[in-house]
Amino acid sequence: MKSCLLLLSFFFISLTLSAQTLKAGAAMRDITPDHLIPISGGMGTPEIPTGIKGKLTVRAFVLEKGAVRIAIVSVDNIGWPAFLGDRSRKLIKGIAPENILIGATHAHSCPDAYGFSDEKGNTAADLKYLDWCIRQMADAVNEAISRLEPASIRTAVAEAKGKIAYNYYAPKLYDPRMGVIQAIAVSGKNAGKPIATLINYATHPEILGTGRKLISPDLCGPLYDRVESKIGGMAIFMNSAQGGMVTADTRLENGKEANDWEECIRIGNLMADEALRIIEPVKAEENASIYCTSRIIKFPIDSEKMRFVFKHSPLAADLAKDNDFSSINTRINLLNIGKAQILTIPGEALPNIGFYVKRKMNTEQPMLFGLTNDAFGYMLTKEDFNGFERYSYVSRTSLGEMTGSIYEEEALKLAKESPAPVK
Ligand SMILES: [Zn+2]
Repeated sequence: MKSCLLLLSFFFISLTLSAQTLKAGAAMRDITPDHLIPISGGMGTPEIPTGIKGKLTVRAFVLEKGAVRIAIVSVDNIGWPAFLGDRSRKLIKGIAPENILIGATHAHSCPDAYGFSDEKGNTAADLKYLDWCIRQMADAVNEAISRLEPASIRTAVAEAKGKIAYNYYAPKLYDPRMGVIQAIAVSGKNAGKPIATLINYATHPEILGTGRKLISPDLCGPLYDRVESKIGGMAIFMNSAQGGMVTADTRLENGKEANDWEECIRIGNLMADEALRIIEPVKAEENASIYCTSRIIKFPIDSEKMRFVFKHSPLAADLAKDNDFSSINTRINLLNIGKAQILTIPGEALPNIGFYVKRKMNTEQPMLFGLTNDAFGYMLTKEDFNGFERYSYVSRTSLGEMTGSIYEEEALKLAKESPAPVK
């Protein structure tokens, strides 16, 4: 009887221990269309492509500890609105919808996911393709959950060196910091091998843009291939505060730009090598802590142009019922993963907003996941809005004057009310 009790208590202790073990899983799906679909490089009429270069993917990185489960999802697209992401969230089993962060890489050479319409209400969006992507995204997350296994975590934030990005409006006004999060298997046949390596960096993957008329993941494709061929596991890219106008440094000495696939490979490979250099010396944290919280925030929509997009998109039809779009709600998330803290941005924040928010976050390893959970165009401070002539485009393609300030206030409130990650 005594030994039976002993056995029973041992069983419960190991059960509790296992329930508190950090686990990670990753999975991806190929979402390259099997036919040519108009590609979107921003608001306005999408471009008809003539070919495909590289493959489009949706990638899911899932973390679990005790009762907390988080999914970080990245999709090759210019932006992935919540009205699409929420349809995937409904198909995902075992993760609370508010703990599923869906970000777009911001590649400017992928099918339109907004359903931009012209004055007559015609749209080039391929609704069947988008339906398929929604299911593929959910499948990737569900598979990542089924692959959860005990993991250690490495995190780092450091300057990525070399000719990667610059600010097209003012060359040096960009954030060179790259964040890296890596989960490593601790047991079984894959012990010691990476499960997933997440790269967080602010840039516009628009080397090809729509001008080359190619459906492509742009620099993200070569970035993924390089990381995975060098160390294995799955690579996943989350963009950051890259608005107005942090972009790939494709400048050539003759004043021209290298806007071809070779340049996507050069920059993608360089980003991969820098990410691996940054994470390489970091000691893995055993059984690291994770934390996830979120909040709904409201942005006024001052821009008639942005209101038009929501009102006329066939994809947002449910949202458009009884909605005058004078404002819009969106979710921002805060995560702690080991020593790193992450805040999401539902759009393209300008780099000065990125610097400010990172500086005020409660961590030595701040990361921002841009274009995550929604992509509402540019987010400027009220001082920048309709300021420099240079900012007229980014002001026009923003929700309005207060977007940046509201975001800063709400994001930092969330950081203040949340626990700090471990030091
Ligand atoms: Zn952009």
